[in-house]
Amino acid sequence: MSVWDDIVGQDRLLDVLRSAVDGAGDALAGRRQDTMTQAWLFTGPPGSGRSNAARAFAAALLCEQKGCGACQACRTVLAGTHGDVIHILSEQLSIGVDTMRDLVRRSALSPVSRRWLVIIVEDADRLTDKAADALLKSIEEPTAHTVWVLCAPTVEDVLPTIRSRCRVLVLRTPPSDAVAAHLVAKDGVPESVATFAARASQGHIGRARALALDDAARTRRREVLRLPTQLVSLGACMTSAANVVDAATEEATPRSTALDAEETADLASAFGGGGGGRGPSGAAYAAAVKELQKNQRQRAKRLVRDSLDRSLLDLASFYRDVLTVQMGGGVELVNEEQRSEIEAVARRTTAEQTARHVGAIFAAREAVEGEVAPILAVEALMISLSGGPSR
Ligand SMILES: [Zn+2]
Repeated sequence: MSVWDDIVGQDRLLDVLRSAVDGAGDALAGRRQDTMTQAWLFTGPPGSGRSNAARAFAAALLCEQKGCGACQACRTVLAGTHGDVIHILSEQLSIGVDTMRDLVRRSALSPVSRRWLVIIVEDADRLTDKAADALLKSIEEPTAHTVWVLCAPTVEDVLPTIRSRCRVLVLRTPPSDAVAAHLVAKDGVPESVATFAARASQGHIGRARALALDDAARTRRREVLRLPTQLVSLGACMTSAANVVDAATEEATPRSTALDAEETADLASAFGGGGGGRGPSGAAYAAAVKELQKNQRQRAKRLVRDSLDRSLLDLASFYRDVLTVQMGGGVELVNEEQRSEIEAVARRTTAEQTARHVGAIFAAREAVEGEVAPILAVEALMISLSGGPSR
């Protein structure tokens, strides 16, 4: 057992991180070594395991045995409760300068464990320019015990001033057989389900796990993949669009509600409430509540959009399969279990039309990411997939 067990299909990355951990003792003692660095940038497509890798690295740095996976340090880091690991997981659309200044202040503190203080910034692509400026000096000349691990989808998503000061590690999309094997070994998922989930998620580990373990996630995906054959009229397009957006809202809402409740309670106790007496009051508390609620509304929106994006990617996988068949590729389809429907659509339409459909889906994803109301973007998409409003 080790902290690296959850990292799937990233052999090169593991080599680099293991040697960094080997050099970490010398680095802490101020001795020369050439493997440990205090500013890292992990990049990789969503689901490739950036944040898992960052957490495992933090655990290995804080563990007496370089990441045994079993000791108190390893367990608390992986559970997210170790005092020397600060994990910034932004569910907001951006990370502002105040958050960053606060982090920079905390980065100067000595770690409780007398080893490292590891700061993981999960969405470094969401740093505002001002926030990035505030961070710059700290990653250039980090405090002796501080390690920064920034995560982002690609190097280009991070400002050049930041990335040039970091050691960049690229995570690849893990191959689906590695993901399937991991689901079998780690979660005890039956092999057939693991193979399906790994293939359907196209290397997104979190998504694969959700598909393997959660019936509702599988059902939602099935519904989405049924859409291409259901868009027979304008009415059907409108209904389908509403269903897709409703399903995304249904998936996101419980998570938003749980996070909101937790934060509201934390805030109240920070202001001295919750002790059985009256709740906190005063202008400062009211202002903090207002700010929190504003952030929570933004996050709720974002979680719905994330869920919707997953559905759009599932839908895109259907048309990619159609295109694969149309191009005469004998390769395995992402949605192998729907091969007969996919082949039927492939016969009925041309590769050109299919490519247009894929393009329309990606345009809809961008619209949803921007300021367009999700329902409008999805309605327009459904109409476009059905072949236009005239049918
Ligand atoms: Zn350990």
